[in-house]
Amino acid sequence: MGTAPTPATDSPSVLDRNSLHPDCTNCFALCCTALGFSRSADFAVDKPAGSPCRNLAADFSCTIHGALRPRGFRGCAVFDCFGAGQRVSQDLFGGISWAAEAESGRNMFAAFNTARQLHEMLWYLIEAQDRTFDPEARQRAGRLRMMIEAALGSGVQRLLGLDVKEVHASVRAVLIDISEEVRMSYSAAGREHLDAGLAPGADLIGRNLRSRRLCGADLRGAYLIAADLRFSDLSGADLLGADLRDARLDGADLSRSLYLTQGQLDAAGGSRATRLPADLTLPGHWEGG
Ligand code: SF4
Repeated sequence: MGTAPTPATDSPSVLDRNSLHPDCTNCFALCCTALGFSRSADFAVDKPAGSPCRNLAADFSCTIHGALRPRGFRGCAVFDCFGAGQRVSQDLFGGISWAAEAESGRNMFAAFNTARQLHEMLWYLIEAQDRTFDPEARQRAGRLRMMIEAALGSGVQRLLGLDVKEVHASVRAVLIDISEEVRMSYSAAGREHLDAGLAPGADLIGRNLRSRRLCGADLRGAYLIAADLRFSDLSGADLLGADLRDARLDGADLSRSLYLTQGQLDAAGGSRATRLPADLTLPGHWEGG
């Protein structure tokens, strides 16, 4: 049974979003080994968790890296570990790979699964803390950041004992509260989404939302697969966990959207005309990328 989260301390957070980008050169290909996949449109073969992918080379590189999409491994091209791979490989396991010892490898894979979730939560919390004007909400987000950072720095065994579900519930609550505050601040900018059936978890697959003012829309967990969002304004729109696979984002303004990740962008289509948040980059497969 997991332990309760470590109480927050007064020490400042040290991880910014720059620390939450993957650095595959300092990782033992943990996403290619620790995780399990079923054969699907995103991953061409079945792969059990805790075993190396058949395309993984001995030096931890991917033998089909330049052809992931055409070879049926699009999920790999969009996967984002939020920097957990290098943290686990280098900080928690001192640069000794899972290939060196089986027992250590099992712990490393488990630690990666936990650290990846925690790093993702940090990604969102940093933005939430930055976007809120409510001092109390900012403090709540800050305390959670410090608690998560403390857990990540507490050693492998304590990390593996963490009750991640409990942490996740606390993080989710503060993210939703801050989303509500941010989205309400955009109410004067446009509320076209209110009568368009746009809601958390909505099925918007293939929906034509081109050139719409979606400012402040709550699209958390929405299915926007292949939706046409070209030239739409998504300022203040909550995109937490929204499925943007093959969504069309050419000319869309995402620069002030909430809780967007690089993986979501990488799964979508767009161009240099798409306006992105400062922490995210133009995907390589986009026009101009
Ligand atoms: S296809 Fe390449 S990137 Fe994807 S899991 Fe296998 S080795 Fe890793």
